[in-house]
Amino acid sequence: MQVDRLTSLIDDLLDVTRIQAGKLSLSFEMFDVSALVKDVVESYSEHLASAACTFSVKTEGTFIIRADRYRLEQAIVNLLLNAPKYGAGKPVEFSVSCEDKKVKIICRDYGIGIPPAKLDKIFERFERAVTSKNVSGLGLGLYITRQIIEAHGGSVRVESVLGEGATFSVELPILQDGR
Ligand code: ADP
Repeated sequence: MQVDRLTSLIDDLLDVTRIQAGKLSLSFEMFDVSALVKDVVESYSEHLASAACTFSVKTEGTFIIRADRYRLEQAIVNLLLNAPKYGAGKPVEFSVSCEDKKVKIICRDYGIGIPPAKLDKIFERFERAVTSKNVSGLGLGLYITRQIIEAHGGSVRVESVLGEGATFSVELPILQDGR
């Protein structure tokens, strides 16, 4: 487990270096984003169960996008793994829907929430809204997530009420709406 954590920290640091050098290369393919979100949650089900974290995924249909599957998965995993860390053990809800030719991926938790003054900051490098003693982390996951999503022509934002949870919304251009 320690080795896994170290490897993931090194990967994050390498990604930050790549992003800063403008060398985050993307390899595009077409796939259904609903299936990807379901697969990602499924593949982390053991980890989430061991953290006593229950997840639900609601998808409104098949939404084909053109994206880098590996990088998009990484962005989703960053949101997913924050939920057990900051979600106060409460259920976490993922949903995939479509609005105005954009696919919307939402990750909502009912955990500790984020202070209003930190809402913009948490997407910056090494920015955290908690002291590092409480929960481990470097404050890079959301920075990397935003860079990946913006590199796809999308956007990511957060809404939160302190003490009541956080809702992260990712929007990406859609190619085909299969509802
Ligand atoms: P890390 O978790 O390693 O600190 P992130 O970049 O993923 O880095 O997150 C940055 C900060 O945003 C976290 O330190 C935490 O303060 C806040 N944060 C992220 N996700 C959530 C969440 N679901 N609920 C409350 N705070 C969050």
